[in-house]
Amino acid sequence: MTSFATHLECSRGGEDFQIDTLQQTCIIDGGPLLVRYDLERVHEAMQREMLARRPASLWRYRELLPFEDAERIVTLGEPLTPLLDARRIGDELDLPDLRVKDEGLLPTGTFKARGAAVGVTRALELGVSTIALPTAGNAGAAWAAYGARAGIRVVVVMPDTTPQTIVRETASYGAEVYLVPGSIADAGAVVKRACTERGWYDASTLKEPYRIEGKKTMGFELAEQLEWKLPDVIVYPTGGGVGLIGMWKGFAELREIGWIAHDDMPRFVAAQATGCAPIVRAFESGANESEPWPDPKTFAAGIRVPKALGDFLVLRALRESSGIALAVTDDEMRDMMRLVGTMEGMLVCPEGAAAIAAAAKLRRDGWIRDDESVVVFNTGSGLKYAESLQGEAARRLDAGALPDA
Ligand SMILES: *Cc1c(COP(=O)(O)O)cnc(C)c1O
Repeated sequence: MTSFATHLECSRGGEDFQIDTLQQTCIIDGGPLLVRYDLERVHEAMQREMLARRPASLWRYRELLPFEDAERIVTLGEPLTPLLDARRIGDELDLPDLRVKDEGLLPTGTFKARGAAVGVTRALELGVSTIALPTAGNAGAAWAAYGARAGIRVVVVMPDTTPQTIVRETASYGAEVYLVPGSIADAGAVVKRACTERGWYDASTLKEPYRIEGKKTMGFELAEQLEWKLPDVIVYPTGGGVGLIGMWKGFAELREIGWIAHDDMPRFVAAQATGCAPIVRAFESGANESEPWPDPKTFAAGIRVPKALGDFLVLRALRESSGIALAVTDDEMRDMMRLVGTMEGMLVCPEGAAAIAAAAKLRRDGWIRDDESVVVFNTGSGLKYAESLQGEAARRLDAGALPDA
């Protein structure tokens, strides 16, 4: 490996493994593997000031990403996503220092593009020819798009309740799409068997170590946009939890290379849906792992994950950061989508709406204090959920008639 990545480390037992292999999880205990870097060398090689001269995309953090050849990255032009202040909605919710990091502008319309860009780049370097993954929807679309770009075959298995727009989008990138009854857990079981029998590369969440490396760049961008001073609270809609774990890991790396202060530790909030809240339940009961949520139900497909492989890492990040987990109802999400659309002109996805609704609740009950700075992640564009959008109904205009005065 010519990059600054040195090895893979098991997130459970801490064992080290070589990085230039196709190894996907720990051979000893099955734990997710995390990429480790020579942070001392990174510290010497890279200064914050250098970033300004680099491309405005996630690849600017290349010393902290696991790829070898900058000429061969698989990219669809990922922009730095905007960190928008949200004064009108902030006034409404009594959150005067509220900002939204809007991931809906990435290719395929969600932050899943980050994980797919880095994950597919690495799969290509490792010589993978077929990628298979289960998905609640958006990861399938993202991996299908980047797979097409790289010329790698992609097989996607999704719940048959996945929003139609996302199913069709995924197929439009040429992926082979299969629908199964049940949740992403049932899709995962199919992929696991298929990968074992057919020798495919299993790109399930945390079963390959590189997707999380892409997702952690959300945290790098946020830190850079805030001039290396993190907010008091970060609210993240949590399904598999990779975005949250990724930011947690990314912030630790930034502390290690001296770019943010050692005591700069935002409280993480994991927002879930009341119809699928395994992390909330585990957090509240003091458990270190979650129990599979029976019959998960929410229209926020991205957070309909009954049991996350990295649940123990999410729970650790929440506790170590003095954070919290809480759930909101689908109705609260719908109301928030509409409120944010009409007050801010942002078409947030249901998952992003869940995060904003969670922030509002935490402010109401005082967990978020006066004047604390809060960043909420809108993880995708509301357009991906076109079937669920609901504004004021359009009115028919008869010939010769005018709109109301
Ligand atoms: C996947 C997804 C999530 C959940 O992301 P994790 O990092 O896996 O917890 C949230 N929102 C949207 C729109 C998603 O597609």
